Amino acid sequence: VDKVDRQLRFARATSHISDMPELPEVEHAMQQFRAAAVGRTIARVRVLHKALERALPADAQQKLAGRTIRNVERRAKLQLVTLDDGSIIEVHFKMTGDWSFGAATDDIEHRERGRIELSDGTRVSLIDGRAFAVMRLHPPGELALPDLGLEPLSPEFTGAVLRDALAKRTIPIKQALLDQKVVSGLGNIYASEALWEAKISPERVSNKVTAAAADTLVAAIRTVLERAPAGRYYYEGTGETAEATDTAWRVYDREGEPCARCKTKIKRIVQGTRSTFYCAKCQK
Ligand SMILES: [Zn+2]
Repeated sequence: VDKVDRQLRFARATSHISDMPELPEVEHAMQQFRAAAVGRTIARVRVLHKALERALPADAQQKLAGRTIRNVERRAKLQLVTLDDGSIIEVHFKMTGDWSFGAATDDIEHRERGRIELSDGTRVSLIDGRAFAVMRLHPPGELALPDLGLEPLSPEFTGAVLRDALAKRTIPIKQALLDQKVVSGLGNIYASEALWEAKISPERVSNKVTAAAADTLVAAIRTVLERAPAGRYYYEGTGETAEATDTAWRVYDREGEPCARCKTKIKRIVQGTRSTFYCAKCQK
């Protein structure tokens, strides 16, 4: 029964693959990359897929050789790799990207799209089933980030700041939470999860969110992001899974299942083309 249940869960999770990877997965991947690469020098960059080559052409690959990696950080779902000359590699996993680590001498992995070989003989590989992930090299000072709101886990992100951002918006709160100018990097899954945690209806009009509700919602956002498992996520249709990310979700992808608080069946609605999962009884 366990196995069948896991297979069902897998099939359902993959049907929402476009919602992954979300911020916790990107944060985890970024930390692994940082630990593997900071202070090390790039020996060679290999691009193994045409789509990635468009973003990182041969001249950019050549410029990377010999550069030392000074820092790796995350902004929203972007990973930013700062090199010793001030240039920056911008990485976006898009739908199915992830890092894999090993030795530079390893055979090319299944779905490996690119490989950064480091001078200590290790490698960091971009694994990406859909091949939508990008790595781009920006010369010093030329990376222009979009206008992003605060990071949801930063201490500056408070109920007052959130309420301020919501004050002029008349769209439903769920959609506002996906607006990167309101809060950066909170994706579709954790927007649903946070609203359930805060007992706020996803349909509540943004500028009707009270100060108390905004405080509750900020705390809920932190709770759901910190509760998210840091492991890998599902690869579409391959059966390759490591850890079941969705076991941590209370409403996301649980349409028809009983609410963990009140046993009412979880509903799914579509807001701005994205699925929202919620409990109509305990979210007001
Ligand atoms: Zn409920």
